[in-house]
Amino acid sequence: MQDPLLKQYDFAVIGAGPAGLLAALNLTQANAQPRGGKTYSIALLDKRDPWREPVSCAEGVSAHGLKAIVPKVSSSWIRETVDGVIFVSPNGTPVTFTQPGSGLLIDRALMHKDLAEQAQRAGAHCNFRARTTAVSRYTDGWRTVKYEGTVTGELQARVVIDASGPGAGFGQGENIVQGDFDVEPALFALVSGIDYPVNYIQLFFGRNYAPGGYAWLFPRDQHVANVGLVIGKRFAKEAPARKAMQDFLARTYPNAKVETMQGGAIPCGYTHHPLAVENLFKAGDAANMVNPISRAGILEAMKGGALAAEAALKVIELASEREKEPFYRSYKSQWDDAYGKANMRIHKAKAAFTNISDATFDKAAGKLAAIPKEKLTLGKIFMTTLWSSPSLIWKMRSLF
Ligand SMILES: Cc1cc2nc3c(=O)[nH]c(=O)nc-3n(C[C@H](O)[C@H](O)[C@H](O)COP(=O)(O)OP(=O)(O)OC[C@H]3O[C@@H](n4cnc5c(N)ncnc54)[C@H](O)[C@@H]3O)c2cc1C
Repeated sequence: MQDPLLKQYDFAVIGAGPAGLLAALNLTQANAQPRGGKTYSIALLDKRDPWREPVSCAEGVSAHGLKAIVPKVSSSWIRETVDGVIFVSPNGTPVTFTQPGSGLLIDRALMHKDLAEQAQRAGAHCNFRARTTAVSRYTDGWRTVKYEGTVTGELQARVVIDASGPGAGFGQGENIVQGDFDVEPALFALVSGIDYPVNYIQLFFGRNYAPGGYAWLFPRDQHVANVGLVIGKRFAKEAPARKAMQDFLARTYPNAKVETMQGGAIPCGYTHHPLAVENLFKAGDAANMVNPISRAGILEAMKGGALAAEAALKVIELASEREKEPFYRSYKSQWDDAYGKANMRIHKAKAAFTNISDATFDKAAGKLAAIPKEKLTLGKIFMTTLWSSPSLIWKMRSLF
């Protein structure tokens, strides 16, 4: 079979998930309005079609956040609109927070397909049967990307954006983030045969559900829901995710018919490592761009990919690391302004959050359940939980 990729590119993007797709799209946009008539060649590689179902995700995003990052959100990507969250405490007490239209449950497979096709139409060369196996050090103005799949080959790129998800290890040994910090096990199942409100997501907190993490139910539609959990890293050995999932399903949804179950890993700790070095940029999970407590990473990855592309376009014409350094730093500081600083504060508070006892959650839920739904705010839920064990306020001071 003939290799659809050329031997040399200006930019190679590894991974066509949210980070890689936004990076590729932003690079192609630069060709639409070339500076000084200059256009760039772009390769987008993935080891599999990024629209292959099921995507390892619960697919929940902030409605406002998605629209702010993606120029054109297609209505076909939206499975359901979320009008609020039902928090469930360890003893099963539900606390309902309502905010109509605040969230979206998206069809990531469709979104990935549309974005990949847009990138391809705009000129990116895509190969979704190309598993990258190695990225060389930067030598004589190039990095060599080796890949295997339907064809085995290699290409040279002047700039590489690694958006290949958690812990791929490209750039190992270089002074760059690796996406391997605080990686937590997650598991989700697509289930049918249970009842749930289709416009609310449900989050279950407590050691009996998912120690150090939480369990969830995110509706896909009226018939099928995404049910899953993430376990805090330090509990992963004592509470294996698969066993926790079986217990959660048996106890909470005994009638659930499991259609498929799949695992995943979430790199959800903040690190101070650089996001770029010597024409290698990292974005998304590959750069640990995940909220440490909510474990959300879709919009974070998209933002990271877009910012990486912006910085990469500035760096490509520069010769020395000294000239490039300010643009690497500006990538990091723009990321920090968008999500990074908040993630760092959340990361600092995470240990205390993870140690909240089941009794504290139950006490808070008991108080909150007595408050009329329309008067509940996220702030009130958070503060009531903290006041149910006042020492938490000091331990989680990084959040204030
Ligand atoms: C079970 C689960 C539920 C989640 N739920 C949510 C949620 O509801 N909301 C939310 O915001 N976040 C959620 N997340 C986190 C979110 O999925 C990730 O943070 C997000 O997908 C990161 O995007 P990315 O582009 O960086 O990486 P990915 O989405 O992982 O994309 C990486 C791409 O790179 C490809 N790839 C990997 N290795 C190679 C290689 N060697 N060569 C070529 N290609 C490669 C992969 O095939 C993939 O297409 C969840 C995560 C899990 C595991």
